[in-house]
Amino acid sequence: MTAARVLDGAAVAAAIRAELGPDVAAFTARAGRPPGLGIVLVGEDPASEIYVRGKLKSAADAGLRAELTRLPATASLEELLSVVDELNQSEAHDGILVQLPLPAAMGAEAERRVFDVIDPEKDVDGFHPVNVGRLVQNRATLAACTPSGVIELLERSGVAMSGARAVVIGRSDIVGKPMALLLLHRHATVTICHSRTVDLPRVAADADILVAAIGRPAFVTESFVKPGAAVVDVGTTQVTDRATVERLFPAGSKRREAFERRGSIVVGDVHPDVADVAGALSPVPGGVGPLTIAMLLKNTLRAAQARMAVR
Ligand code: NAP
Repeated sequence: MTAARVLDGAAVAAAIRAELGPDVAAFTARAGRPPGLGIVLVGEDPASEIYVRGKLKSAADAGLRAELTRLPATASLEELLSVVDELNQSEAHDGILVQLPLPAAMGAEAERRVFDVIDPEKDVDGFHPVNVGRLVQNRATLAACTPSGVIELLERSGVAMSGARAVVIGRSDIVGKPMALLLLHRHATVTICHSRTVDLPRVAADADILVAAIGRPAFVTESFVKPGAAVVDVGTTQVTDRATVERLFPAGSKRREAFERRGSIVVGDVHPDVADVAGALSPVPGGVGPLTIAMLLKNTLRAAQARMAVR
């Protein structure tokens, strides 16, 4: 058995952040202010709190000015839309990010309605229909951060995309669909799978590049993976169940130790045994997560540069 090469998202993210440094400094010198990012957090979801803290810190470390606007979980959709509108009008904010998920009480269509009103030029998440349309036409300037990060990871790790068979498991608007489009634009032959796909393991096992974005811990097992394939694990599920952790990770392993310390760990969609079959595999944590934040910073800088250019 051979262990798959690690697709080191943390290292690639650090390289991307380092490359942004001179451009952030140049923008700041020319504009007389740093690129600005407005983050909006509604409610107190513990995972969202952690993600937002990470985004604020990474932005500050990169020389951006990031500000957090908080709304209580009881806020109405209209209140949220009015905060977004203020950020749309703000001269100092180049990027706007509304942290998901929104409280269920805001209604099933709340996320769509919020993305519809964000100024497309400030839409650093790449979720506005205008930016999704540009992505379809392969002329996106602001594309969704997580799938963009996966492309950077594959490219900088030397995984050939042109002509490769790529299978994306998951068809969400924020990960699966943009992921498939970005791979297509890199000339991969792309298949998108979802919960109704018949014989998913067989379809997945055709892939030279397999991207799992499902949200089901260790769902992708060895039978899904062609020997030597590059496997990218986007999934992140907080697991508190001891039996699941003990089934997946051997006693004495780092993941088990982390579970013993914290009482929970984040587990990806890809079963650890896949490392015996795959040619390359991104870990969770330390794979796609850091790249998502690096691409958020990159998108904020791009949005800032584009806004300055039209003045
Ligand atoms: P989502 O909106 O819940 O979409 C999940 C997708 O997986 C759906 O398309 C669903 O199919 C499919 N799926 C669910 N169960 C399946 C099954 N048994 N077989 C085949 N397909 C199945 O989730 P998401 O927002 O795309 O996120 C996916 C995962 O990525 C989550 O774990 C999330 O936490 C993680 N994530 C990580 C990052 C990061 O920075 N690391 C960023 C974003 C998301 P249907 O459409 O048929 O229901």
